[in-house]
Amino acid sequence: TGKPKQVKLVLLGESAVGKSSLVLRFVNRDYVENREPTIGAAFLTQKCATDDRTIKFEIWDTAGQERFHSLAPMYYRNSQAAIVVYDITKASTLDKAKSWVKELQRQANTDIVIALVGNKLDLAKDVVEGQEEEEAAVGESTEENERQVPKEDAQAYADEAGLLFFETSAKSAYNVDTLFAAIAKKIPLE
Ligand code: GDP
Ligand code: MG
Repeated sequence: TGKPKQVKLVLLGESAVGKSSLVLRFVNRDYVENREPTIGAAFLTQKCATDDRTIKFEIWDTAGQERFHSLAPMYYRNSQAAIVVYDITKASTLDKAKSWVKELQRQANTDIVIALVGNKLDLAKDVVEGQEEEEAAVGESTEENERQVPKEDAQAYADEAGLLFFETSAKSAYNVDTLFAAIAKKIPLE
């Protein structure tokens, strides 16, 4: 009942990891290949219902380029949630994600909910116990396993740093709603 709780959320991570694609999948239920890079930052809103309340996410989708780094504090300073994205097919993007997490843990609200997200899961062809693990995530894609970041490594880091962790595909929509729902659940009630 009443107005939904407004939650400011910021997306951070190296450029081209799929930040804009994830937000647009969540907000517009849509995916567009090779979209224009974000300049500065984009603002979008989307509601998300959990068991006991409705949250309205106010989302700042930032540009990942180094030349925009100095603007980032403007976007995360008052955020209650952050999604830090890396690309599972590019190991260097996880290092960048870790440095964003460090910065958030030093400079952002102490109770900020942080989710680490490994995107582009559709490019992984993981074989687990003789089965394709990510059947639900597979779109049409190449035969090769393009994964560079093992899920276990990222999960172990996320556990140690106290972060939510998901692997997603903006392309196939895999885990995108789950990600935002998990964040919504973790936002403290006033
Ligand atoms: P951003 O710079 O982090 O906002 O990344 P974009 O959302 O602009 O995406 C960068 C590139 O990666 C684009 O060519 C997207 O089509 C592609 N991309 C984004 N998400 C996915 C995904 O889940 N799977 C695959 N295969 N490509 C993706
Ligand atoms: Mg973008």
